[in-house]
Amino acid sequence: MERNASFFTIARSFKAIFLDSYGVVKNHRGLIPGVQGTINYLRDSGKTLRILTNDASRSPEQQAARFEHQGLKGLQPEEIITSGMMAHMYLVHKAKSGRVAYLGTPDAAAYILRADCPSVPVSDIDLDDIDDISAMVFLDDEGFDWNQDINKTVNLLRKRNIPAIVANSDKLYPVAQNDVSIATGGIARLVESILNRNFIHFGKPDSQMFSYAFDHINQYGQFGKSDILMVGDTLHTDILGGNKFGVATALVFTGNTSPDTVDLDISASGIIPDYICPSIVH
Ligand SMILES: [Mg+2]
Repeated sequence: MERNASFFTIARSFKAIFLDSYGVVKNHRGLIPGVQGTINYLRDSGKTLRILTNDASRSPEQQAARFEHQGLKGLQPEEIITSGMMAHMYLVHKAKSGRVAYLGTPDAAAYILRADCPSVPVSDIDLDDIDDISAMVFLDDEGFDWNQDINKTVNLLRKRNIPAIVANSDKLYPVAQNDVSIATGGIARLVESILNRNFIHFGKPDSQMFSYAFDHINQYGQFGKSDILMVGDTLHTDILGGNKFGVATALVFTGNTSPDTVDLDISASGIIPDYICPSIVH
């Protein structure tokens, strides 16, 4: 493990850089100051770039537009890979008939669920009429009534033995310096523990996003795993996922992990990044 390295120096050794979004490129305040310089540097030095995000609430096109709106120029939708895309591909192959029930916003439903397959928000389900429901998808932490609709989801899954899919497995996301909100993965885990069931989780640390990004960049060039650096702020998702997939990993301190507790976090989790750097802007 190499500490306090400059991100620019580390990046020189790799042909492709995978960046987590929240906590690396932006945070609750907006863009991390100086990040445009980093993106420009990576472009100018010919690096291949992908954003790998456990965000299922927006499509890559919407995320690229949001980056642009926040002032970060030059990220293409094709460079943004989301856990929602992985859930969508699964549903295309696995949920071919019946109605798909979901918790989340209509926006997330429009992008993740199959356009040719009827879907229904849990709030609109009549629990006496659920025989045709073929899957349950946890899309987003917004867009529903937590009390009524989580209870309804528990009852739906008690009555129907159908696959339950979690489009973003993050448990929490930061909303201020020291405060977090419960994310979709946290809601799904609550329901899993009540029902003693394991759902199908998409997003880092699972390997689908890494495999997809790896295959995707190899359509445009030739990359081995040793050519790739995964950069993230979270040990349990970005760093564990990158380590398991076999690419180099760099932990930054602009999000979930603080320099004050990093040693404890690493020894308690056993998840060891190859590099630790303060941020991607130095
Ligand atoms: Mg993050």
